[in-house]
Amino acid sequence: MSGIYIHIPFCKQACHYCDFHFSTSLKKKDELVNALAKELVLRNDEFKNRIVETIYFGGGTPSLLSIDELRFLIDEVYKNYEVSETPEITIEANPDDLTHQQLNDYAASPINRLSIGIQSFFEEDLKLMNRAHNSEEAKKCLEEATKHFDNISIDLIYGIPGMSNERWIQNIETALAFNIPHISSYALTVEPKTALASFIKKGIIKHVDDDLAQEQFHIMIEKLRDAGFIHYELSNFGKPEYFSRNNSAYWQGKPYLGIGPSAHSFDGKHRSWNVRNNSKYINSLEKNILPIETETLSTTDKYNEYVMTGLRTIWGVSLEKVEQEFGEKYKTYLLEQSQKHIIEQLLYLDDGKLLVTKKGKFLSDGIASDLFMLN
Ligand code: SF4
Repeated sequence: MSGIYIHIPFCKQACHYCDFHFSTSLKKKDELVNALAKELVLRNDEFKNRIVETIYFGGGTPSLLSIDELRFLIDEVYKNYEVSETPEITIEANPDDLTHQQLNDYAASPINRLSIGIQSFFEEDLKLMNRAHNSEEAKKCLEEATKHFDNISIDLIYGIPGMSNERWIQNIETALAFNIPHISSYALTVEPKTALASFIKKGIIKHVDDDLAQEQFHIMIEKLRDAGFIHYELSNFGKPEYFSRNNSAYWQGKPYLGIGPSAHSFDGKHRSWNVRNNSKYINSLEKNILPIETETLSTTDKYNEYVMTGLRTIWGVSLEKVEQEFGEKYKTYLLEQSQKHIIEQLLYLDDGKLLVTKKGKFLSDGIASDLFMLN
């Protein structure tokens, strides 16, 4: 099980909270698409004996690419890699791009999954976050998208300053009314150096209320569970058969190739990342040089990553896997460090797996860091 992630580093406008890598100028789009294709060619050796099960266009805003550009990149994957007969091919899209024509084009292409950045159905939230779409477009695009695709995921954000629990519930209920089988949902986080951080500092926008965010997280868990969703990862809910294959592989430590500026890759032993700058990325690939840095993960790094991702998922942290892959010392350490959290009912052991309790869910990243081994 392996996946290819392709980063499309362009957006129409900068959302106030976002610290991803993107440019709002599309001037270098053609050159960048060619550079992505070149990187796919140059790195095919890394996936020589692997079957690509998932292709994921993320960003940035991949829906800013034309259908011809998307098809060209998908063809390059097929030409240079062995692709499964039933791959999951996802594109992240923003509602304002999903016109009837664009959806038709996607449906006629090998793309078989949409991940739509709705974030909220309310005008005031969308304005506060500086999203490029409005409430009407959010609903319209889902009406249209569900006619063409059944495998659709949407993103929703909670903990937005000024968003009451009632408004959050309405957001969830609106999403459920469209019968979407997958929802990814994140607390609004204030990343340093974003417009949001600066507005909060200047008092223009209220602080994010962590207690309210936690309440909204629990409201969502209950409402989505009642609607038949499985909370399979901290921020992800899917109906059976609709879990994201791309992200599930990532959480289970499977190898993936990250193509494009700022994209990260993992081969089981090494983590690597591409330069976070479009011009440098293009220039380097024009010279057939991969703009990449690599680090070798130590056993401790791998153990820490497994604990971090395992605790976020329904698959938990397997004691047997810890012992087999990292050694007895790590298993003993994990069990010792977990005791306090088990007593506090934040963690529990079930069939040889360590999992977070309902109470521990919102705190799982902090709990995981308590279980980390120091290098
Ligand atoms: S569209 Fe997505 S990647 Fe682009 S600025 Fe907004 S949140 Fe960031």
